[in-house]
Amino acid sequence: MALYAGPALSCSYCDVEEQQKLSERLLQVVASQCAIRKLSASEVLPRLRKELLPDGELIRASTSSAPSRGLALLEQRLEKAGSRKGWGDALALQFTSKDELLRRTSARVREVAAAREFNESARAALALELLQHYDCERELHCGERLEPSTEATARHKVHCVFRPVSCANDGCTAMYSARGEAAHDAQCGFKLLPCELGCSEHLIRSAMAAHTAGPCPNRPVDCPFKAVGCGAHVTQGELAHHLVEATPAHLMIMLEVFSQQQKQLNACGAHMTAQETLIIQQRAALEAAYSDFTAMEQKLQAAEEANKALRKDLDGALKTLSSVSKQQEAQGKRSAALAEDLAKLGTQQKTLKQHVHSELSKTTAECADLSIRVRQLESAP
Ligand SMILES: [Zn+2]
Ligand SMILES: [Zn+2]
Ligand SMILES: [Zn+2]
Ligand SMILES: [Zn+2]
Repeated sequence: MALYAGPALSCSYCDVEEQQKLSERLLQVVASQCAIRKLSASEVLPRLRKELLPDGELIRASTSSAPSRGLALLEQRLEKAGSRKGWGDALALQFTSKDELLRRTSARVREVAAAREFNESARAALALELLQHYDCERELHCGERLEPSTEATARHKVHCVFRPVSCANDGCTAMYSARGEAAHDAQCGFKLLPCELGCSEHLIRSAMAAHTAGPCPNRPVDCPFKAVGCGAHVTQGELAHHLVEATPAHLMIMLEVFSQQQKQLNACGAHMTAQETLIIQQRAALEAAYSDFTAMEQKLQAAEEANKALRKDLDGALKTLSSVSKQQEAQGKRSAALAEDLAKLGTQQKTLKQHVHSELSKTTAECADLSIRVRQLESAP
């Protein structure tokens, strides 16, 4: 692997687009540090230079298969240099958030970009120096050793793949390295191209979509009679001719459609008449049902009144029943008293009977005594 041998003897071409990206990145890093430290670009730059291009550092190409070791290191250093903690923690607490730092950085960008010490060409020069220092794999710069003022050197300058070229397409201001020419041409919006749909026009790439979707005569369009059945495939440019040429066919289609619609209209009319009849029938049925309902309502009213009268009668009967029941109760009481009296009389009768019986027995005994005395007396001398 070749070693970087110093800018003076090397081809100074590098990848133009990468150089531009790196310039932008450097602008952001410087603006960020200006915002953090409240310094000007001229005060920040020497420190940044020292961080990114340390004295005596030599970056060697990687011996492993891992590519871009030097560029990865540059990326790390840029990341560190643009962060709050990049140059020590002392001032890190000035910002409460990353968003706040971004806001202040973007406010400083224009100011830094306008500073003479860090204008566009100064940034590009620093970017080139960084690429020459870190790109040891020569992915983004040439670094070819050139003898000054020789024919070989002049030839190299004309053929170097990193030589800057500007886009040849009219209106395009893009700059890139020669090796990126094909890639740029394949997507350059100013590239003049024949119409994608094959009409005679040539358009720049960025206008192609609007042309093919708009005025291009080769744009496929539907015949206005498609809705009624014309299946012709025509382009915008052919449409006028098709409309003239296919007039008889379109008329026939329209006639057919008209006749179909007439049939449908007739069927609709018949359907409507049937519906009307149905509505009249339903209305009559509804009216009959309504009059039935009214009659039933009247019957219900009469029944309610009869019910009321019945209820009144029932109340009267209930009252009568209650008084009868009271009378019955009194009668019952009287019956019970009579039964009691009857029982008492029974008992008295029984006692009387016993008394009579005992009196009778006594009288019978006295009678017997008397008869004995009588006999004694008769027998006595
Ligand atoms: Zn070169
Ligand atoms: Zn271009
Ligand atoms: Zn076209
Ligand atoms: Zn048609």
